[in-house]
Amino acid sequence: MPIATVNPATGQTLKTFEAHTAEQVERILARAHATNGALAATTFAQRGAWMRRAADLLDAEAAELAALIATEMGKTLPTAAYEVAKSARGMRHYAEHAEAYLADERPVPPAEVGASDARVVYQPLGTILAVMPWNYPFWQVIRFAAPALMAGNTALLKHASSVPQCALYLGELFTRAGFPAGAFQTLLLEAARTTRLLDDPRVRAVTLTGSVGAGAAVAEAAGRNIKKSVLELGGTDVFIVLPSADVAKAAEAGVASRTQNSGQSCIAAKRFYVHEAVYAEFEERFVAGMAAQKAGDPFAADTSFGPLATEQGRADAHALVEDARSKGATVRTGGAVPDGPGWFYPATVLTGVTPRMRIYREECFGPVACLYPVRDLAEAVERANDSPFGLSSSVWTSDPDEITALAARIEAGAVFVNGNTASFPQLPFGGIKDSGYGRELSGFGIREFVNVKTVWVS
Ligand code: NDP
Repeated sequence: MPIATVNPATGQTLKTFEAHTAEQVERILARAHATNGALAATTFAQRGAWMRRAADLLDAEAAELAALIATEMGKTLPTAAYEVAKSARGMRHYAEHAEAYLADERPVPPAEVGASDARVVYQPLGTILAVMPWNYPFWQVIRFAAPALMAGNTALLKHASSVPQCALYLGELFTRAGFPAGAFQTLLLEAARTTRLLDDPRVRAVTLTGSVGAGAAVAEAAGRNIKKSVLELGGTDVFIVLPSADVAKAAEAGVASRTQNSGQSCIAAKRFYVHEAVYAEFEERFVAGMAAQKAGDPFAADTSFGPLATEQGRADAHALVEDARSKGATVRTGGAVPDGPGWFYPATVLTGVTPRMRIYREECFGPVACLYPVRDLAEAVERANDSPFGLSSSVWTSDPDEITALAARIEAGAVFVNGNTASFPQLPFGGIKDSGYGRELSGFGIREFVNVKTVWVS
């Protein structure tokens, strides 16, 4: 994939970039490695001050950044501005809480382990590689970078090839805010050259957000080199509606979830399992809500969502719809590639989806929902868990017993009740099964890339 800014709303190539040469990569890597000792020796207060300054820069430059994001990957201007603001909030969260998250611990009275003192201390690992996607080109990076830097690690960003200007901005941001020049740097690199970095002893760990294929390639290289990896690989999240739910509210929330970011969100609801007692009402409201969405110019005020980020992404999403249609699914709304420039795709609802259809199991990274009636909670859970993925889930019911049962039985990294899945700096985020492993955000996220060191004193 060429490293280029291609406007998804027009298909026009606006700017192309050369990948870094082997010599440039070496220089960047050497600088990161040389910075590790100095960065690890700084205090939380110092790193926190730099991190807050970086957050202030994001806020001050938010308008330009939102326009850049909208231009490079097609999300609407308000949602891009929201992403920048959320990133700044995430940075401030770690500036404030990192020290407490990584405070020394004394898990048992020292005498119990025959010591005068027995502590657990958390220390930085060194240089961490971050392979990141284009869908939230700031937030995905910041939710790794803020904890990693606050823990005292240095980082190298290999961003998606379709968002090079976001990548270059982020590569300067932390240095502008006061961090040493080698603390956080961007590598302009093709995917094919990325895994080789893990063979280098100076790179100590890797985190990747993206597809299962990319995750497997990176995890394989990390495993071969005995290096820690964290993977966040998307999902086919369920949205379960039971009879005691507020059906109108659920339908509205379902539309918002499935069309957010033009449907290109790992935590978007993709499979809707609705109890047959309220199925007809939900279907009517949901299909009408999806049909009312307007895919259009990310810079126009009346746009619900923009184009898909890449031509290939739209082709992939449409191929899943066509596969389902050819095998007997009903397209209730959408499902056609519009004429004209840009990679637009309408909000689409499929019913009658069966396990023979690819979309039954595969992640569709576009605004395409599959709607299924279910007899009861047990069937909803069984169908929910019949998936290779397990990222998050959203369940709608006002019955406390059902809430308890769903929270216990759904195989996923999160269950959101009467609300859409979202990420918060205060709560862990991540999945199980093919959705990956490890956690981002909260205290769990910052402890992924540290040496959990036991100190035992006789
Ligand atoms: P990819 O997984 O290909 O891209 C994500 C990142 O991984 C990019 O930086 C990419 O670089 C890099 N990458 C890709 N292959 C490798 C590899 N073999 N070794 C090292 N790095 C690699 O996602 P796509 O953009 O192609 O989207 C495909 C699908 O992935 C989507 O349809 C969706 O299902 C899923 N996805 C999930 C995301 C999530 O939020 N969990 C985000 C994005 C995609 P480059 O851009 O240079 O190829």
